[in-house]
Amino acid sequence: MSTADLSLVQPAASVARLSISVRNPSTGAVLAEVPQHSRDEVAEALTRARAAQPAWAALSFRERADALRRLARRIRDDQRLLETLVAESGKPSYEAEIFEILYTLELTRFYTGSVGRRALADDLRSPGLFPNKRARVVYHPRGVVGVIGPWNWPLLNNFADAVAPLICGNAVLLKPSEWTPLTSLRVAQLWKDEGLPEAVFQVVTGDAQVGKQLVETCDMIFFTGSQRAGKLVAQAAGGRLIPAVLELGGKSAMIVLADADLERAARAAVWSGFAHSGQVCIRTERVFVESGVADAFLGLCEKEVKRLRHGAQDDPQVFDVGTMTFPPQMVHAEEQIEDAIDRGGRLLSGGKRGLSLGNFFEPTIIADATLDMKVMHEETFGPVLPIMRVRDAEEALRLTNESALGLSGSIWSRDEARARQLARRIESGSVCVNDVLFNYLCVEAPLGGMKASGLGLRHGSESLHQFCRIQTILEDRPFFAPISKLVAQLLGFPYQRRMLALVRRVMKLRY
Ligand code: NAD
Repeated sequence: MSTADLSLVQPAASVARLSISVRNPSTGAVLAEVPQHSRDEVAEALTRARAAQPAWAALSFRERADALRRLARRIRDDQRLLETLVAESGKPSYEAEIFEILYTLELTRFYTGSVGRRALADDLRSPGLFPNKRARVVYHPRGVVGVIGPWNWPLLNNFADAVAPLICGNAVLLKPSEWTPLTSLRVAQLWKDEGLPEAVFQVVTGDAQVGKQLVETCDMIFFTGSQRAGKLVAQAAGGRLIPAVLELGGKSAMIVLADADLERAARAAVWSGFAHSGQVCIRTERVFVESGVADAFLGLCEKEVKRLRHGAQDDPQVFDVGTMTFPPQMVHAEEQIEDAIDRGGRLLSGGKRGLSLGNFFEPTIIADATLDMKVMHEETFGPVLPIMRVRDAEEALRLTNESALGLSGSIWSRDEARARQLARRIESGSVCVNDVLFNYLCVEAPLGGMKASGLGLRHGSESLHQFCRIQTILEDRPFFAPISKLVAQLLGFPYQRRMLALVRRVMKLRY
């Protein structure tokens, strides 16, 4: 991508300014320079968004839905977007298409369909105490929502997280990660090409300073990223009393019981451990396997990991594991591996960076993992998978829940009823029975973190109301106005003993 393509975010006059070099993690080549937007530029973007938002909110649900669906089709058909996504993240094209593009289309389909329409329509409720009245619940947009995204999903946790706020009638300022801003800029270009109101969806680029400014000035924040930054966002948002949805890190456990389909479980452990080189928030971060089947399971995982093809070409037939997007993550993986080996861990595969150019890191399985290893309790977010033997399901559950994090997880058993019961006891926002990762594509159901993995939700109709100011308007039911007048006379001033006696009778009868 050339700088000319970034005209959306260039300052009007050509002045010397700070910029960020975005690199291809497979080759190290600079893909583009993007601006580090100044405070004034971000403030101007916000002013434009504020001015444009009321007209966007005034459109009907159908009109907004139609706009977002047209954009989704452009995203689907834009080869350039896919190439940009692969180039700046280093992930296989296969993963980019399925986990980012397909996901974005499905999420847009879901929120622009009947679920979104019903969730945002006025909701009429009948008060039990006053059948003469009607409560009308109204969902107003919040105004301008700042969406702050991480580098591991340049589309899915960036533009796709803008879909829910937009369908609710908000304007969005999206600040993608400084490591992978190009996909978001491409979406902004497609938005413009589609003729949609430019100020309603804008991308501002830069580092954490730009993110902080959004938290200081927007009406709501949808943040996805690390726990460290999430806490700062929560503090700043709390200081302003604005809501912040926080989607943070995880330490998701896979629990493999003795009666599990071990082959399927091993395939899933390797896939969910090493997809996008382990840079997936809901990845399997650690495995607890019942000791009776541990050797068999380890053998299957070893066989599975040997089959993985490492690469950098964007041909889905050619490779399974790409490069790491964020170089410091490789140092973090190395530190955890060294610590695990010092404490008696055994390398079943990998253990080091790849020898070729680029941020390659070998998929690494650590057998004989123990609780004192950092890799068992600190988020790895890289291609390292520790496997620990446990006595039984109860021990696995206890160790899983000892974590301060609770994002996702999976449980494996042929006894589905038992697995479901155990799943309910896992303190995580979502749990798969005999599967992994697919919960992210199930946009109908809410997804969010328990404990320190976050606050609030994405997905499901539940998520939409977070992006709304909810107002209740109490009104008379049609034809009941005379009764309402009477009730008001009886209940209001002057208070009467007769009325109190009546209320006491009602309380006795009703409760
Ligand atoms: P990060 O917290 O370093 O950065 C995320 C974004 O926040 C970036 O755009 C960054 O510029 C911005 N930022 C940083 N400090 C900020 C501040 N004080 N105020 C406002 N904005 C700030 O995270 P990352 O390294 O980009 O992403 C990796 C983390 O994201 C991992 O912990 C991973 O588990 C998590 N993650 C979670 C989910 C989820 O859905 N729960 C999804 C993807 C990634």
